[in-house]
Amino acid sequence: MKHRIVVLGAGYAGTYVAGNLARRLSPADTEITVVNAVPDFVERLRLHQVAAGGQMETQSLADIFAGTGVRLHLARVTAVDPERQVVITVAGADGGGELGYDTLLYALGSHGDDRSVPGVAEHAFDVAARPSALRLRERLDGLRGSGKVVVVGDGLTGIETATEIAESRPGLSVVLVARGELGAQLSAGARSHLRRACDRLGITVLEHTSVEAVEAARVLCADGAAVASDATVWTAGFAVNPIAAAAGLEVTGNGRIVVDRTMRSLSHPNVYAAGDSVHAIGDNGRPLPMSCATAGYTGMQAIKAIVGRLTASKIGHVKLGYPGNHISLGRQDGILHMVDHEGGAKPRYMGGRKAARIKAGILRMSLWANSHPTFCMPKRKRHLAGAPDLFAARALPYAPDAPADKAVA
Ligand SMILES: Cc1cc2nc3c(=O)[nH]c(=O)nc-3n(C[C@H](O)[C@H](O)[C@H](O)COP(=O)(O)OP(=O)(O)OC[C@H]3O[C@@H](n4cnc5c(N)ncnc54)[C@H](O)[C@@H]3O)c2cc1C
Repeated sequence: MKHRIVVLGAGYAGTYVAGNLARRLSPADTEITVVNAVPDFVERLRLHQVAAGGQMETQSLADIFAGTGVRLHLARVTAVDPERQVVITVAGADGGGELGYDTLLYALGSHGDDRSVPGVAEHAFDVAARPSALRLRERLDGLRGSGKVVVVGDGLTGIETATEIAESRPGLSVVLVARGELGAQLSAGARSHLRRACDRLGITVLEHTSVEAVEAARVLCADGAAVASDATVWTAGFAVNPIAAAAGLEVTGNGRIVVDRTMRSLSHPNVYAAGDSVHAIGDNGRPLPMSCATAGYTGMQAIKAIVGRLTASKIGHVKLGYPGNHISLGRQDGILHMVDHEGGAKPRYMGGRKAARIKAGILRMSLWANSHPTFCMPKRKRHLAGAPDLFAARALPYAPDAPADKAVA
């Protein structure tokens, strides 16, 4: 019987891992299946643009995996039973039921956290998934060019969303709510640049403001202020799917899977995780943030670990870092800046059109990389080392001194 590898989620992490595993492992003894709820690759990095009215190119997963040997199973995962080694799905295009695995890669991503503040789930919009971004877009269309949009959260998604809406729908009045100082995570220079961009785009910034409740037509702040709103966009936090916790995998308080340096679950050795679902500790000793770069690095490390263990070869070491922030401020402006080893913003940054062009290039590149998941990897396919069910016993330990390898974000 072939060794069954099941990849849950075909986003930035899952697509990349599945394609690369197919490229590295022989189909004679491995079978790779990707389970995804929707039939195409969703370019999450552009969802704020979609919400503001922009077009998104869709890439069919069937086309992406055509000829790679990866089986695509379109269904929604509802549970994982690690004792029986099965994934439970409900009817998608490919029907529901159970899917057995020998090795599982969990990459179900994240969604907007709508539970932390009352009224968010009922009244707020978000840009974390395509359906919710499209709902926001419909609401903005319905405002017919006038009204107030309140974006809560000045993390990277909040900044990108507020600036994109303000630029593409200049009739709307946009308010950006920041819990602390605007862009506190940026360097002083980048913060000033952001402030100038908000002024230029007519965005009202409310700093040191904590939102305590969202109602249909206003948000209520901790200081007692009420801000009228025709559309409230909640970007203040992302949450992960509760499936991993419900399965009994070891997870953090917020449900992310706890793994070792090779992205292998600490509680279940034949389960790996990558992307937003994983709680991976970076080389600086801090948890890696949810990001596309993290999806690339953790995905690459998981690939090396799975291939290494299955073929009884040395497990390559992938650097686990977070290079920096690339923030678009509408389509004509942006901020690029690197972070230091501790994750703090380096003082120098690049702003303006050049940064916007680089960010646009990064978006194109990451879409291309995910649409060609078998590109850029060794074509030599490797056979498993002995009977697949013995792999756990034969597994080589992770070799931290192995040569570093670059991940593709
Ligand atoms: C608007 C926006 C802008 C962003 N901009 C940036 C940026 O500029 N740079 C950056 O680094 N990061 C950015 N991010 C974050 C980045 O998008 C995520 O970190 C990245 O998508 C994580 O990849 P992933 O593979 O873990 O999850 P995803 O890409 O979300 O993929 C998860 C996949 O799992 C599928 N899935 C989920 N649940 C189920 C289920 N129950 N059953 C079956 N399938 C399921 C989904 O359909 C999806 O295909 C942005 C995010 C947003 C929302």
